[in-house]
Amino acid sequence: MLVVDGVSKTYAKKKVLQNVAFTIAPGESVGLIGMSGSGKSTLARCMMDLERPDEGSMQWYGASLVNKRVRQASRKSIQIVFQDPRNSLNPAWTMKRSLSEAFLQFQAHQSRPQEQDRVFAELLEAVGLNESFLSRYPHELSTGQCQRVCIARALVAEPELIILDECLSALDVSVQAQVIELLQTLHQTRQVSYLFISHDITVVASLCDRLLVLHEGIIVEQGRTRDILADPEHPYTRSLLADVP
Ligand code: ATP
Ligand code: MG
Repeated sequence: MLVVDGVSKTYAKKKVLQNVAFTIAPGESVGLIGMSGSGKSTLARCMMDLERPDEGSMQWYGASLVNKRVRQASRKSIQIVFQDPRNSLNPAWTMKRSLSEAFLQFQAHQSRPQEQDRVFAELLEAVGLNESFLSRYPHELSTGQCQRVCIARALVAEPELIILDECLSALDVSVQAQVIELLQTLHQTRQVSYLFISHDITVVASLCDRLLVLHEGIIVEQGRTRDILADPEHPYTRSLLADVP
């Protein structure tokens, strides 16, 4: 459903992405792994139209994401969850307001306003929270709870693909494990596809069917997770695996 082909991006003469190409099929969970500064977030931003690639194409079900009409339509189908959940939520809004804004934007045309409360209750339960959180502000939640709300907010749109850009980095290890379990459950129950971005190959390998290894803006290796773990080809991938305890 997503085809990224030959995407390149240069900032101030520095080539940050070079000829990046990959696909994500419906229901697939794909891991994008690479060290800090390798271009992962730049690629995510290009996919969300927060940045324009210099070259290459990105197609969503065969239609170019650069096309304004396709882009508008894809806003609902492709959602992103960022690294820092606190900065992703408006501090002046209750959780209900944050979810309501997403509901208005993505669901209003297909759901009646009365359905909002039912949708929120269902999503909060899916992310391991309950309706008592709706009246709270971000500062009244732990970071892990904020991240769960961000995931619930992404789900309001009923996306087909969620880009998770280092979504575990701000969480402590036990909360990370809970969020990983949550993502696995959502993947199984809602058939959501993921592009899971991280520099931690262990986490990515546990969540993803397929891996893309990004090194200095170039995808140096891609394939099924188990094949890459069993027989990494590129020296960078080998060095990543050598560091795994
Ligand atoms: P991290 O793991 O630290 O999040 P990353 O792989 O997501 O890193 P990017 O944020 O995509 O890396 O950045 C890739 C490179 O592009 C970096 O060298 C960064 O300094 C540079 N860069 C990113 N955005 C811009 C910008 N708007 N203007 C200039 N340079 C930028
Ligand atoms: Mg990044």
